[in-house]
Amino acid sequence: MNAQTKVTADHLRKQAILYVRQSTLHQVKENRESTALQYDLKRHAQELGWNVEQTVVIDEDLGESAATATDRSGFQRLVAEVTLGRVGLVMGLNASRLARNNADWHRLLEICALTGTLIVDEDGVYDPNHFNDRLLLGLKGTMSEAELYMLRARLIGGLLNKARRGELWVRPLTGYVYDESQRLVFDPDEQIHSAVRLLFETFRRTGSAGQVVKYFSKHSILWPSRFFEGKRAGKVVFGRLQRGMVLNILHNPRYTGAFVYGRTRTRKGPDGRMHICLLAHQDWKVFLPNAHPGYISWQEYETNQVKLRENGHSDGKDRHKGPVREGNALLQGLVLCGRCGLRMTVRYSVRKGHQISNYVCARRGIESAGPMCQCIAGLAVDGAVGQATVEAVTPAALDVALQVFEELRARKAEVDRLRRAQVERAREEAELAQRQYMLARPENRLVVDTLERQWNESMARLAQAEAEYSRATKADGILELSTEVKERIGALASDFPRVWKDPRTSARDRKRMLRLLIDDVTLARDGELIRVHIRWKGGATTSLDVPRPHNCFELVRTPAAVIEEIRVLATGQADDQIACTLNSRRYRSGTGKSFTASRVRYIRFAYGIESYGQHLQRSGWLTLPEIARKIGVHPHTARIYAKEGILRAVRVNGKDLLFQPPTGPLPCAHPAKENRRRVPHGLHSSDEE
Ligand SMILES: [Zn+2]
Repeated sequence: MNAQTKVTADHLRKQAILYVRQSTLHQVKENRESTALQYDLKRHAQELGWNVEQTVVIDEDLGESAATATDRSGFQRLVAEVTLGRVGLVMGLNASRLARNNADWHRLLEICALTGTLIVDEDGVYDPNHFNDRLLLGLKGTMSEAELYMLRARLIGGLLNKARRGELWVRPLTGYVYDESQRLVFDPDEQIHSAVRLLFETFRRTGSAGQVVKYFSKHSILWPSRFFEGKRAGKVVFGRLQRGMVLNILHNPRYTGAFVYGRTRTRKGPDGRMHICLLAHQDWKVFLPNAHPGYISWQEYETNQVKLRENGHSDGKDRHKGPVREGNALLQGLVLCGRCGLRMTVRYSVRKGHQISNYVCARRGIESAGPMCQCIAGLAVDGAVGQATVEAVTPAALDVALQVFEELRARKAEVDRLRRAQVERAREEAELAQRQYMLARPENRLVVDTLERQWNESMARLAQAEAEYSRATKADGILELSTEVKERIGALASDFPRVWKDPRTSARDRKRMLRLLIDDVTLARDGELIRVHIRWKGGATTSLDVPRPHNCFELVRTPAAVIEEIRVLATGQADDQIACTLNSRRYRSGTGKSFTASRVRYIRFAYGIESYGQHLQRSGWLTLPEIARKIGVHPHTARIYAKEGILRAVRVNGKDLLFQPPTGPLPCAHPAKENRRRVPHGLHSSDEE
């Protein structure tokens, strides 16, 4: 049976699909001949009778492997089109282009057989409904899979043999280089060598990868990396040590001096994707201890692994984005940092017996021992977002949403009507062309040929219009809402706030409800405000500004009014008097206590307010020794003068006195006493008695 007899009018009415694929981007770039050959098959379809317009090229999978269909959107589209019966011919350079996996290949053959689709490769045309063709195609698929298997087995087998002998070249780790006889030795560069030693030593001391990063950062020690490929091969660059690097080094058994190969296994999961899993030590393919000098012993390596595993519990993947958890932070798993764009995590603390939540962006800080990006108190933000959510589900908001939905539906229906009219028109034209062809007299060859061509063309236009229609309809996804559904949406307006505010609703349930409505929340601190941007499901956004809550020290800070009062009072009163005045005016400190002289003094110090004494001294008042020196008397005498009212003095701080300098000569209060004082002590002692 030759190729032409397999192709029928029915096949020709449908489209011909050319599937083009190359395994890797490298092949796409280098192996252009093969790609050109694949595109060349298009001409083959025209020789078989298909129009140019009917031939569709699917080349979305350039650079994708055929080992699995999961990541090949082009292959999936091909299968979908064949399943819908829209394809008369599938073209590929050989079976391996279509599938390297027998299951995928046989499924495609099965569907092609059911929908009567032909398959073409460079060797010929096959009809999967014919037993011989199907057998041949099946064999081609098996061979293709076997070819892949053999290729892989030969490559991996060679690698494994070399690895078993310990001769496989693997990229040397930081701290190692290959010598002339291709053996791994310590890096001769002393700086690199000691940096690696220091890393292990610091971990031994601190027991934490984060602390190692902090130590390196604090002492400005840079981490070396050596290039092994490219223009800069052999060069060493120094950069900041990151936590990921430390973990990689600590987890790598090659630093014990062992040659290790095959520590991981790749396995295809039920979703068709490859999963890499780490194997236990006893399952490693090759393990040759003491193959090269080691930085640490095997025992130390194992101790490190245990320590890292323990540390890992507090910083596991589960803390990033994941399912709803028990804590009371409403936005757990939904918050993004408005400054750096990373996901923020929740940190809980207990204050006065209450659980307090904070949203923190600490990832960069942890990675490179830098400061935390930002930390935002959870309570105020949670309240604002909760309020916004309750407001979003009000009767008015739902009414508007339903109206908009109706409007969209009406608009889509109108567009759909227009699209359907286009298809109808194409169908009418095709039918007209068919009638004209049927009516033509067979002996009039020239007319018949023209009419046949016109009929074929109109059929092609019809097929195109139909495909366009179904594609557009699928993209639009027209929805209908029944009255019952509308009523249920209306009831939501009253149910939702009730459930939300009910104290019996658990934090977990509230978070679940929130996740049905909100995609994510971005937080950014801006001075005294927290800017909150909520992204709702469906793409709408709401922006809120929440005042920043006070820190714990701000909460106990003395009220600003009291500080102003002290500032005014201090110009005319000592600290104990100020305390009395404040208490009589019923002022209280930040912690709610009454004022004492020491409390007032502390506040003055903290806010740099001058005391009453300092005020007086600045305007020329003198201390006791100063006034005594100025008027030439004993300080004790000056004190008596003050008592007698000869000198003007005030008490400023406990016992301390300040004196106003006398403007004129001092009146003599007690001349006798004064004279006695002026006489040198020893001379008049006997006279007195
Ligand atoms: Zn951040």
